[in-house]
Amino acid sequence: MMTNANQLEPRTAHQYDASEPRPDLTGMTLDELERFMADLGKERYRAAQVMKWIHQGLADSFQQMTNLSKGFREDLELIARVGPPRVVSESRSRDGVRKFLLHMRDGCGVEAVLIPEDDHDTLCVSTQVGCSMGCKICRTARMGLVRNLTAGEIVGQVLTVRKTAPSSRITNVVFMGMGEPLANYLNAVKAIRILTHPTGPQISWRRLTVSTSGLAPRISRLGRDVRAKLAVSLNAVTDEQRDFIMPVNRAYPLEDLLEALREYPLPRRDRITIEYVLIKDFNDSDADARRLVKLLNPIRAKVNLIPLNDDMLEDFRSPDPERVARFQEILMSRSLMAIIRKSRGRDVLAACGQLAGGSREL
Ligand code: SF4
Repeated sequence: MMTNANQLEPRTAHQYDASEPRPDLTGMTLDELERFMADLGKERYRAAQVMKWIHQGLADSFQQMTNLSKGFREDLELIARVGPPRVVSESRSRDGVRKFLLHMRDGCGVEAVLIPEDDHDTLCVSTQVGCSMGCKICRTARMGLVRNLTAGEIVGQVLTVRKTAPSSRITNVVFMGMGEPLANYLNAVKAIRILTHPTGPQISWRRLTVSTSGLAPRISRLGRDVRAKLAVSLNAVTDEQRDFIMPVNRAYPLEDLLEALREYPLPRRDRITIEYVLIKDFNDSDADARRLVKLLNPIRAKVNLIPLNDDMLEDFRSPDPERVARFQEILMSRSLMAIIRKSRGRDVLAACGQLAGGSREL
């Protein structure tokens, strides 16, 4: 073991206090793992070895890391842990979408949704247990916030689903499940760094999307801190409308939100995705469509039109298909890219706004 007078003495596994919480190595960046190994007096390259086992080898115990010595594996068992969330149940939609209820170590449940596409799969992960943002068109809101997920628990959803569905081709990850990612900022950013790291699960940042309800100051910060695609749930074209369905708007009204979007550092040819849930007789008129075009004019954006999923939510109803088509036509006729997003996983409550941590009562 190498030490010098300026360094702390490395500790052997037996010098660790058994009452100390064992750190979850799944939630460590490579830098952090390197510091962890140094603290144990181990070589730097051990960090990359362990990180690859966790994120690429999908090892959920140190015993599986067979290129580490037996003694080192036993030491790691004593002082640290790995182990992504556990699948408690799975629902399969008629359209191929698979929804997983995952339990964390403390028993808290979140949902992750695997969406098969033609040539790849997308995994929608949660960033919080519940959510405090109170959007009226979302079941998760009814849970309130139970707690933030750690970075390891966010990344762990990808690892668990890859292991549970070995034939899946998860190349795309969206932070669009339960919770507001930017309200759990530090963990979400750390999870992005791990997910996109070459020694991690190797998700390209171009295929990792963070979806926010509109925490304007943190949108700007996200753009400075990491590279990720951005999606924003807009859902309204006036403050009055938006205040009504998305309480976040009272803190960060449309003007603040749009300014944050204008300043978001977009790579060339990239666009911000604007999610617009269409609600019958609320935000689906021709005038709403024209106002949306005007609002988004200074922003490089594309719009996903999502007919409301859940007729049981408050007094809101899904719009008629003709209205949805007309809304799209108005946007397209004014050169605003707009697609109607097919609602998938609806029969197993896996579609947008339907996640509720396994509860069907919410
Ligand atoms: S839509 Fe997103 S931000 Fe709003 S309550 Fe639901 S989970 Fe939270």
